[in-house]
Amino acid sequence: MLYGSSRGQEGEFTSAQVIKQGIASDGGLFVPDHFPVLAESDWVRLQNMDYKERAFFILKLYLDDYPDQELAKCVDLAYDFQPDELRDPSGALKNSFDHPRIAPLHQLSDLCYVQELWHGPTGAFKDMALRILPRLMTASIRLTEEKSRIVILTATSGDTGKAALAGFRDVPGTSILVYYPKKGVSRIQEWQMITQPGHNVKVVAVNGNFDDTQRGVKDIFADINLTEELNKKRFKLSSANSINWGRLAPQIVYYISAYADLLNDKALSWGDSINIVVPTGNFGNILAAYYAGKMGLPIKKLICAANSNNVLTDFINTGHYNRNRPFYQTMSPSMDILISSNLERLLYEINGRDHERLKSWMRSLSENGAYSINEELKKTLRETFWSAYCNEEETASAIKYVWDKYNYLIDPHTAVGFNVYQKYRRAAGDTDTVTLLISTASPYKFSGSVAQSVMNIDSYATDDEFKLAARLEKITNKKIPRSLRDLSKYPVLHHETCEQDNMEEPLRSWLKIVPDKG
Ligand SMILES: *Cc1c(COP(=O)(O)O)cnc(C)c1O
Repeated sequence: MLYGSSRGQEGEFTSAQVIKQGIASDGGLFVPDHFPVLAESDWVRLQNMDYKERAFFILKLYLDDYPDQELAKCVDLAYDFQPDELRDPSGALKNSFDHPRIAPLHQLSDLCYVQELWHGPTGAFKDMALRILPRLMTASIRLTEEKSRIVILTATSGDTGKAALAGFRDVPGTSILVYYPKKGVSRIQEWQMITQPGHNVKVVAVNGNFDDTQRGVKDIFADINLTEELNKKRFKLSSANSINWGRLAPQIVYYISAYADLLNDKALSWGDSINIVVPTGNFGNILAAYYAGKMGLPIKKLICAANSNNVLTDFINTGHYNRNRPFYQTMSPSMDILISSNLERLLYEINGRDHERLKSWMRSLSENGAYSINEELKKTLRETFWSAYCNEEETASAIKYVWDKYNYLIDPHTAVGFNVYQKYRRAAGDTDTVTLLISTASPYKFSGSVAQSVMNIDSYATDDEFKLAARLEKITNKKIPRSLRDLSKYPVLHHETCEQDNMEEPLRSWLKIVPDKG
């Protein structure tokens, strides 16, 4: 399998090269040259596999330049399950999944299955990819005989940051710097990041929102002088954001895995189409579902659920992308995004891989903050995608409704998905399709909003999210995941804040002083 840039830069790359590099040097995103299609016999085999075996099977199709043994080791270490109270010799809790099925399904109603993607060590679905990306990166350093230290720069809307820090912590040959929007993450998300230990990690708050933060990181990547300076000192920048192919490929796995589970559960027969509802921000997760569809997973509709930052809903419904609009801070902060980077990869596919047309849209996006696709493409888009958005009040009522009706706690991002699924059923009159609702975070990661919704308290702003988590646990009898249980006791290790137009500074000062222990 070879990869090229969505913007048409000359050259073909192996998966190890694209994972190491993160983003193409023409500013485009790396895309596979084709999508392998699974035969019915493959599905039968997948049905009889556990999560690790499924991951190996799917990833091998895309990362075929990784030796079998190496890839198997990456998968094995990434998707490890440890029973709840197991601790490593230092007394720390094991950095692994707390559910034996890794990405289990929970049947909510006749037709609706929730896929819980938050059983990893940081409580959000980002672990599904960021448990394996650092291992793929280390392997790629070896496979490409890289001599420089890889410096991972990451902008986070809250969950990527912690998952990337946990994943890259003390990984030889790498350093990681995470930037997060100072006022754009939940208290628990922030605490998870600023307490992160590790000799190769750094965390910096940015005075700005996620889009400002993401733009700042992209600007650093695009700064040729800076990258040359870094290269001379044997540093090479790469990304752990969902623009990195090494994050997207592992996300395809759980969609395929869910379908295999549904077949095993006799919830459907082979070939039956399903709907997939994905709470969406940067468009990485739902793009992986689309790719799974290209591999033969039968999809009726991909339902793109947005919060009040509904730029994607408008795009899917009108064909006009326009980021010039108010930015809202919501209780689903990981979706507070107006520039969804991975949409570029979808546009590339539905546009018949026409680089020039894609480039003109991206130029228009960066110059005017907007672009439009024509009627024909809009039709193609809407054959697969459906979208609506969910406001704050609706999010809170969805959390409460699902708790009252099903005795099941969901976080605000998943609640956005649930609400939009209801809207879809009503609008499309689709009442007989099995639907996979992607649950992207543990409710305890957002215990403030969840407690407020479930317990009907008016204001929690002055209260402490950790205390609310404890109250929530008591009332609901649903256990706080072990990754979040002791969090409030950890010491703060990162204090730095920078301005959005000066994000390069912390990077420069850090790299000069960092001792290379890799
Ligand atoms: C990152 C994230 C999302 C959005 O996923 P994208 O791949 O960026 O669309 C949704 N929910 C949670 C909890 C997240 O962490």
